[in-house]
Amino acid sequence: MAEKECSSASCSKESCEGCPSAKKEQKRFAVDMNVYSDVKHVIGIVSGKGGVGKSMVTASLANLLASKGYRVGIMDADITGPSIPRMYGLKGPAQADDNGILPVLTDNDIKVMSINLLMPDPEAPVVWRGPILANMVKQFWSDVIWGELDYLLVDMPPGTGDVPLTVFQSLPVDGILIVTSPQELVQMIVKKAYNMAKMMNIPILGVVENYSYLKCPDCGKEIPVFGKSKVDAAAKELGLLVAGKLPIDPKLTELSDEGEFAKAENPYLEPAAAAVAVLDVKH
Ligand code: ADP
Repeated sequence: MAEKECSSASCSKESCEGCPSAKKEQKRFAVDMNVYSDVKHVIGIVSGKGGVGKSMVTASLANLLASKGYRVGIMDADITGPSIPRMYGLKGPAQADDNGILPVLTDNDIKVMSINLLMPDPEAPVVWRGPILANMVKQFWSDVIWGELDYLLVDMPPGTGDVPLTVFQSLPVDGILIVTSPQELVQMIVKKAYNMAKMMNIPILGVVENYSYLKCPDCGKEIPVFGKSKVDAAAKELGLLVAGKLPIDPKLTELSDEGEFAKAENPYLEPAAAAVAVLDVKH
C-alpha cells in the first residue's frame, strides 16, 4: 500500500495529488511577482548535493532556450554557493530604482539575478541563517524587475532545506528538473526530490545525468569514467523522463571558468528543452 503523504491527521487519502487543500496550502505562502515582471513559466533545477553540475545544467538549458528565441532569466537561488554570474563574466552591483532591482544581462541576453550581483565583495562568504536566505529568494521574485520572460530558471541550492522549500511554496514553479551524477546514490536522490516535489504538488519534468561519460577526443569512444549510468533505471522506476545525459566536456569547464559561458552550446540538453517547451509559451 502507498504511504500516506498528507501531514493532516484528519486526512485519510494516500496521495495529495489533486487535493484542493494542498493547492490552498500552497497559495497561502505565495509571494507576489514584481508588478513590472511578467514571467510565464518558472522551472526549478535541483540536485541532491553540490558539485553535480546543477549550475552547469541551468546555464546550459538557459543558453539552449535563448538560442531558440525564448526570453530567459536565471534566478541564482544557490545563495551560499552562487556561480551563475562568474560563469557569464557578470559583475555587480545590479542597478535598482524605486520599482525594484534590475537583473544583469548576459552577452546572449539572459537576465540574471544573484546575491553576487548585490554584495559589494563577491568573494565574501554569505554567512546567513536559513530564514534570511529564504527571504532573499522571495525578494528575488518580488523585488526584481524581470520584465517579460518565457522561462525563469531557478538554480536551487542542493538538498531539501529552507531555500528549496521557500521556492516551492512562494513561487509558482511549473516543474523541476533533477540533476544527478553516476557517482551518487541516484535512486535515493531522485526519489527524495521526487517525493518533495510530490508533497508540494509540483510536476517533475525529467532527470538529467551529468558527467555521464567522457568522449575520447581521438576515437570518439564513450568512456564511463564514474561507472555505468544508473539514471535510466531510476527514471523508469518512477516513470520519469531522462531529460539528458551530459558528457564531461572540458570545453564547457573552460568557458565557465573564463566567464564566457554565453558562447557555450550543449546539445545534450535538447530533451530537457523539449520538456520545458511543452509547457506552452505563447508570444
Ligand atoms: P553545482 O551547481 O551542482 O554545485 P556546478 O555546475 O557548479 O555544480 O559544477 C561544478 C564544476 O564542474 C564547475 O567547475 C563546472 O564548470 C564543472 N562541470 C559541471 N558539469 C560539467 C561537464 N559536463 N563537463 C565539464 N565540466 C563540468
